[in-house]
Amino acid sequence: RFITLEGIDGSGKSTQARHLADRLRAEGFDVVLTREPGGSPGAEEIRALVLEGDPDRWSAETEILLFTAARRDHLERTIRPALDAGKVVICDRFVDSTRMYQGLSRGDLRAQVDALHKLMIGIEADLTLLFDMEPGLGHARAKARNTAEERFEDFGADLQARMRQGFLDLAREFPDRFRVLDAGRGIETVAGDVARVVLEHLR
Ligand code: C5P
Repeated sequence: RFITLEGIDGSGKSTQARHLADRLRAEGFDVVLTREPGGSPGAEEIRALVLEGDPDRWSAETEILLFTAARRDHLERTIRPALDAGKVVICDRFVDSTRMYQGLSRGDLRAQVDALHKLMIGIEADLTLLFDMEPGLGHARAKARNTAEERFEDFGADLQARMRQGFLDLAREFPDRFRVLDAGRGIETVAGDVARVVLEHLR
């Protein structure tokens, strides 16, 4: 099964992904925990190309191509082999992040993202957990973490709010696979919810 975690920067996805992987392993599942952009050596190189250095280096369209190229490598080398071996794959961000970040942040490029996804990737998650929270809170968390890669920290409150709404709209668009969680609560509380939803799905 293929499980993805989505949400705005600082919504706690990575922490929850680790908790979830630990919990599922304790329950006896064979788990692969991975992330995007990245998740395979080639895709990690593309991640560095996109996220490090001048944020205006690539056009929005080129970024869609780079993220899709990274995803294709990630799919071939990491995700597909794990799914074929019957493992549970937990992926911190997947195409829904591209639908939002590359599809929304610099004009409306959603159609291009979807077309390329259909052509080159073709799979959607079986279950997507959306970590929904007030953007101010996510921004504060992302800032506290303060990694060099956090270029979208400078997105501004306006875009963060649009992004949050975009993810909620996406959840309504794909109701069969999305579950929306209130990520503004404590880590343990959210982790409990995540485990319950995922275990229900897996059983
Ligand atoms: O999820 P993570 O914190 O690793 O993401 C790293 C950075 O890449 C974040 O600032 C995020 O906003 C950005 N990103 C992006 N487009 C994506 C996925 C992530 O710009 N499709």
